[in-house]
Amino acid sequence: MQTPQIKDNNYLDMEFRPLQEQEEIQRDLIKHMLVYIKENSPFYQKSLSEYCDKDFNELPFTTKEDIAKHNRDLLCVPENQIAESVSTSGSTGKPVYLHLTSTDLHRLADVEGRAFSSMGIKNGDKVLLAVTLDRLFMAGMAYYLGVAKAGARSLRIGPGQLGGIIELIKELKPQSIVAVPSTLKMLCERLQDEGVPNPLKKALLIGEPIRDDIGESTPHARYIQETTGMQLFSSYGISEIQGSFVECDKGCGAHLHTDLMHVEITNEDGQILKDGEYGEVVITSLGVTGMPLLRFKTGDIASLDTTPCLCGRKSPRISPIRGRLAQRLKVKGVNIFPNQVYRALDRIEDVTDYYIEAHEHSPGCDRLIVHCHTENNSLSEKDLASTLGTFLRVTPEVIFSHESVIKSTIRSHSNRKTARFIDRRPSVNKNK
Ligand SMILES: [Zn+2]
Repeated sequence: MQTPQIKDNNYLDMEFRPLQEQEEIQRDLIKHMLVYIKENSPFYQKSLSEYCDKDFNELPFTTKEDIAKHNRDLLCVPENQIAESVSTSGSTGKPVYLHLTSTDLHRLADVEGRAFSSMGIKNGDKVLLAVTLDRLFMAGMAYYLGVAKAGARSLRIGPGQLGGIIELIKELKPQSIVAVPSTLKMLCERLQDEGVPNPLKKALLIGEPIRDDIGESTPHARYIQETTGMQLFSSYGISEIQGSFVECDKGCGAHLHTDLMHVEITNEDGQILKDGEYGEVVITSLGVTGMPLLRFKTGDIASLDTTPCLCGRKSPRISPIRGRLAQRLKVKGVNIFPNQVYRALDRIEDVTDYYIEAHEHSPGCDRLIVHCHTENNSLSEKDLASTLGTFLRVTPEVIFSHESVIKSTIRSHSNRKTARFIDRRPSVNKNK
């Protein structure tokens, strides 16, 4: 069995090399990956058999459904070489299992170690991991490996009770934290209320965006920065390709690790889009031995920027995720994502709480209803609809509701990741 080229640390300076050189190295790694999966994965042996002399961008995509359906056939190693199995959070359906060899765990440590190093975390630093470390989630485990790789110390508290996190902060005074933005905001508020000095200087934020697609901070991120002065780093992680991308301290997109993953942005027909154009993020994992994936369709919408960054890195950067493909709405001919509606609502001071609802108006044409509560009655439903229209390029329907009604609606849907988005479109619900 041929092993893919794993050169631990060999490419640590990869992202600083000229982009052309990065692309040349990447082409070699892709060639190697293709040979490896054709030789070792029954799934790719079959699916690639008719694509002998095709260019890379003509090769077939791999979907989440493929991983669920052909789980064993995607494996490139015998089962006794699997060191860890994880599952994705199942936000789009049933959990999907992924299998990693011990080599893959080293690669994962390398990916996340780079994230911490680019944040300036080093030997002697303490990193509080306030994220889920069990339940087959990959992220927490990956960050744990990354902290060790960066030579720092892990404090594995998990996301649970804030009281326990505060005790640990008092006792061991960590300088950095990995958390979801809403948890970090609550933690900062509690520290302030209880008069506990906040030693945290840097935060790696996962799960929720901290910037919108024009680069403006979300209200949670703004609150944390203004009240604590903490440096915030946004990240985008994808379990299926065993990796994540983290912003550098310039905060203008997350840098790609060109030796570990190949990223494309594609349109609905699968064609590759230009720099700055938004489309689906498609990723090929490089250097993975257990379950490498070719052109995996993530279902996330973002764009790429290949101009050099002010930090000196020349690897392309990926924008904040605009939304999930499955949540895209088409309202009066305009494509729109729930995240964009949230950001617009967050900018209007009088709006204190909200949720949004999507209905199908006719095939391919959706209705967007914004249910919200406003603080002082200075705005009418019509005023608010037209203000939202200027931000969103399409005017939604607005219905004012009592705060308690909004809160209970969000709570009753809170077992789903997107509690503020209620999708009543039949085409979406029939797949669930
Ligand atoms: Zn940078």
